[in-house]
Amino acid sequence: MKIVQRFSVYSFILIFLVISSCSRNPVTGKKEFMLMSEGQEIEMGKSYDPQVTATYGVYQDETLQAFIDKKGKEMAAISHRPNLPYEFKVVDSPVVNAFAVPGGFVYFTRGIMAHFNNEAEFAGVLGHEIGHITARHSAKQYTNQMLGQLVFIGGLVVSEDFRNFADLANQGMGLLFLKFGRDNESESDRLGVDYSSQIGYDAKEMADFFNTLKRMRDDSGQSIPTFLSTHPDPADRYNKVRQMADEKQSENPNQQYKVNRDSYLRMIDGIVYGEDPRQGFVENNMFYHPELKFQFPIPQGWRLNNLPIQVQMSSDDGKGMMTMDLASGTDLTAAINDVIQKNELTVIDRSNVRVNGLDAVAMISEQTAPSANESQPTTLRILTYLIKYEGRIYKFHGLSNKTDFNRFFGNFQNTMQNFNVLRDQSKLNKKPTVIRIKPVKKNGTLQTALTSYNMRGTELKELALLNGMQLTDQVKAGSLIKIFDEMRSGS
Ligand SMILES: [Zn+2]
Repeated sequence: MKIVQRFSVYSFILIFLVISSCSRNPVTGKKEFMLMSEGQEIEMGKSYDPQVTATYGVYQDETLQAFIDKKGKEMAAISHRPNLPYEFKVVDSPVVNAFAVPGGFVYFTRGIMAHFNNEAEFAGVLGHEIGHITARHSAKQYTNQMLGQLVFIGGLVVSEDFRNFADLANQGMGLLFLKFGRDNESESDRLGVDYSSQIGYDAKEMADFFNTLKRMRDDSGQSIPTFLSTHPDPADRYNKVRQMADEKQSENPNQQYKVNRDSYLRMIDGIVYGEDPRQGFVENNMFYHPELKFQFPIPQGWRLNNLPIQVQMSSDDGKGMMTMDLASGTDLTAAINDVIQKNELTVIDRSNVRVNGLDAVAMISEQTAPSANESQPTTLRILTYLIKYEGRIYKFHGLSNKTDFNRFFGNFQNTMQNFNVLRDQSKLNKKPTVIRIKPVKKNGTLQTALTSYNMRGTELKELALLNGMQLTDQVKAGSLIKIFDEMRSGS
């Protein structure tokens, strides 16, 4: 694993220095300086895909996955690069975003799927993301980001357990915050209009979705998706997309463009909205995991990042970090030996302990990591706890540079020694909020319709945005709207 990691780091340097060449852009047809061949783009996408799914998890909904796969492939077939090995996935994140990785990998979050109000809005954003791939925007962007990360990955964190931290935190999460230049975004908007029109959707809906995003930012100060953030004036973008859609549609004045509102809404009925507490949540500096039934405290002021394969915490200055995940096997001695061996640790102290009545091993060790500058290796000091609970072994690492270790030791110890069985029923039973699709009972305002389903207070404003309407807008009896509900047990 170590060798593979270092190889990949150096291979990016090679790509930059050696393989860069001129090629023709598939969208513009112009010759341009490219850092990667198509084969390399595909390889890159394939190597990132497992990281994306490890970072966010794939959202478990076969109907939704089948839908985006079908529409994605239909659109890819009419795009400028129909022959890439496209893959389309809904990832399990509440954040509202969509992003594309070179080689044909396109991701939508469940958060953005919950915000669309019809298939045409979705198709516009799908076209925009496919546009980044076909016009090779992301390929260029990616190379820049990778080069920026070389020092950190090559220099500090290399061994298996700790590498996840750097990889996932910087690359996987970084994908959500990828930024493209304004020209790239405009080009992708145009391609979004083109591609979605070509598969029969009304591209004007894409403009309406930009309005929803703008409201999201203005109303609630939520962070805005990257495909909006590089544009200082979303209203201007709205107008441009409207205009491009009108022009495109005037080419075929007799064609009926689809919106498909009801079928889209019925498909997302029951979609999880916001954080999913079943996968772990934080309350008053305590992390709770209802499914695995454990809890542990988080140091004051630390950030927590809850990924499907690992919980990560870092101090505000970024110099101390903790990870928690599952060790392999069920035997504590075998597991600690495996940790020592895999990470090439030098053991300083090791003892069998009890953590709230559970069998555990505590260990202090050091790891000397080769740095970018081979003559000055970095020494990490690590506190490790392996705790056996319900047939699983939970593995905590707290690590920092040797010189900072004493500063963080108390934090590390407090978190690990207070790992405990979760018994609080209110925490165990915490269910996610889901979106339900309901018919409006009688003609009136959206507010009246929502209130008739017992929606109250701040929910109303949030639901107005989710429905892409104002509370004062008129809705007709029998038309469909989104409301909030609690996920029922067993579903
Ligand atoms: Zn974009």
